[in-house]
Amino acid sequence: MRESALVLIKPDGMRKGLAGEVLSQFLVGDVHLVGLKLVAVSHKKAQAHYGHLRDKFFYKEIVSYLAGDLHDGQPVVAMVFAGDHAVKKCRAIAGATNPEEAHPKSVRGKFGRITTKGVYENLVHVSSDRMEAEREIRLWFKKTELLKH
Ligand code: GDP
Ligand code: MG
Repeated sequence: MRESALVLIKPDGMRKGLAGEVLSQFLVGDVHLVGLKLVAVSHKKAQAHYGHLRDKFFYKEIVSYLAGDLHDGQPVVAMVFAGDHAVKKCRAIAGATNPEEAHPKSVRGKFGRITTKGVYENLVHVSSDRMEAEREIRLWFKKTELLKH
């Protein structure tokens, strides 16, 4: 089924100079890039993005992480990919949430790490399902910033 997924290259990916490599891994996948921009993420935006996880023990940590506090204030690259089963395909390219469990050829398996403080630095965010994708795409992009697809 045709759908869209939000993908973010998080500040650790930017800090490590891996944005190009990560983007390439999505571009060679069977999904189409329909939006892309660089965003300096405010705490308000990070809180809105992760609002549904506010009860998790790692909530404050991921808000700081997305806002760049852990990586020299680096921004994120925000993208939208469209296509049949785009969410599932983009999540497969990203790999499992825990970088130690992610497939070795996935983005998170190749480049992710768990820090000594326990932060899951897993390089990318990918929407979890179609409903989440629709909410997230509205949060990050104006309609006019996306190609028609
Ligand atoms: P995702 O959809 O694969 O990104 O995973 P979630 O939506 O469940 O979690 C959002 C983000 O929180 C993940 O990408 C990780 O950076 C972080 N995270 C998830 N689970 C854990 C955990 O068990 N411990 C820690 N420290 N961070 C986590
Ligand atoms: Mg998620």
